[in-house]
Parts: sequence; C-alpha cells; structure tokens
Amino acid sequence: MRIKPFISSIYLSGLAISLFVFSVNLHAVTQLNFDNLTLKGEFLQGGIVIGKTIPGSKVIYDQKPIRVSSVGDFIIGFNRDEAERVSLKLIAPSGEQFSRQLTVQKRDYKIQRIDGLPKSKVTPRKPEVLARIRKEAAQARQARKLDDDRADFLEKFIWPTIGPISGIYGSQRILNGQPRRPHFGVDVAAPVGAMVVAPASGLVTMAHPDMFFSGGTIILDHGHGLSSSFLHLSELLVKTGDVVKQGDLIARVGATGRVTGAHLDWRMNLFKRRVDPQLLVPPMTTVKNSNKH
Ligand SMILES: [Zn+2]
Repeated sequence: MRIKPFISSIYLSGLAISLFVFSVNLHAVTQLNFDNLTLKGEFLQGGIVIGKTIPGSKVIYDQKPIRVSSVGDFIIGFNRDEAERVSLKLIAPSGEQFSRQLTVQKRDYKIQRIDGLPKSKVTPRKPEVLARIRKEAAQARQARKLDDDRADFLEKFIWPTIGPISGIYGSQRILNGQPRRPHFGVDVAAPVGAMVVAPASGLVTMAHPDMFFSGGTIILDHGHGLSSSFLHLSELLVKTGDVVKQGDLIARVGATGRVTGAHLDWRMNLFKRRVDPQLLVPPMTTVKNSNKH
C-alpha cells in the first residue's frame, strides 16, 4: 500500500527510475522499474518480491500463472536453492507481452559438518508414527495451497515474538557426510508462555495442537499463497478459519514437538517455496524494549 503513490506517478509520467527511497534500507531491498511493472524486494535466495502492474494484467512466474489483485499487486519468491535466473512474463490487458529474466543472488548458508559420529542407534519409527507424520504433512500442505485474494502481505511485517535469534533460514548440518534437511525457519529463543503475535494480518488455515515434529502449530495465510507457520507452541489462541490483524495475540511460545528447548520457529512459504521470514522484518536488535511482549 505504501508504494502506491509512487507507482501511480510512474504510470503517469512514464519514468522508469528508482531514486525514491520509502523506507530505511534494512536489507538489500531493491526496486526495479520497468514499463508497466515495478518489483520491490530482495532478489536473493529465500527472498520475497512484491510486484505491481496494471490491473487486469496476467503474470506468469516460473512458467505458472500467479494471482494478480484487482489493483495489480502480486508476489513472487525464491527458494533456498533457487536458480540464478528466473523468468517473469507479463501480459498486459492490451495483449502486449513482456518477458523479464530476474537475477537471484546466491546466498551462503551456515553449513555445519560433523564427522566421526557413532552410528545412529535410533530405532526405526513404527508404522503408526510414520502414518501420523504423513497425515500431518498432508494437512500442512493443504493449508499452504490456499490462493486467497487478500493482500495482507503488503503490510510491513513485525516480529511475532522477541528474543535472541537462535537459528536461521537455510542452515544445514551434514552428519557423517549425510546432509540433513535444511532449517527453513528463523528461531527466536523465548520462554514458554511468551506471546506470539501475528506478524501481519491473515487467515488461520491450520491450528494443530500437537504435530509429531512441530508440536502446537499454526499456519497463517497472508494472501496470494504467502503463509507464516509458527512451530512448537505451548498454547493456541486461534482456530482454523479465524481472521486476525497484525499484532493480535495468536499463541504462546512452547517447547512442544521434537525440540531441545523453548523457542518460536517462524517459517514462511509462498505455496511450496520456502522463503526467509527474517528478510521481511527489521533486525531484532533495533526492536525497542517497549515492544517486548
Ligand atoms: Zn527451528
């Protein structure tokens, strides 16, 4: 919403420059202006970019048509290991087509190699546990499929809880040469019971009290396929179908599921793509004490 006046002035004047700065450049937020199209966000792996085009246009990202709002807003994102170039095609209401190749900057992830570990003595999981894990994964997948017309993703995101960052997006451990699943969330260490607020408005698409891996888990949809997931919660204060506003209390931090200590694991998806929520919020250190929950 905050970029609207600028966008309209671009359309009116036909200028394609980006000398205007709207907010403090906390990360490497870039604004690219093309004819009929403005892109603003982080052009790097895990990044999210908000697009604005002429209402009624069609946008094809990565060979698939994506939702464009009635006022021309859309959102694209990049995976942890996204290729260096991604394609974006625009079909204007006039039928005119524009194609862009976007460059996605590569990121260095924290990789921890641990060798010489004794062979795992973990007993294989029972069939009923495996069935439960599969069922829960399907539930989460279903919740993240929603392609809703709301555009809550245009809000300036806030931290859902405050505390030291104890885990970051993309990090990975390689144990005895075996790469483990990368960590896709940002972990915030906070005591059991600390407040979890909605980082942006949204619709609760899943509120599960006890998932095998992630314990108490909420998925909050921000529109156009962008969703936040909150893991290891001790208490859920919303239910599936609830609509919440940014800053609303939705849950409490916990240590449920497979964890070693209390923390909030905040993840973000753009449909199946895993994006980095930390890129959307100001650095934790700049958050004032008065914002402490
Ligand atoms: Zn985590």
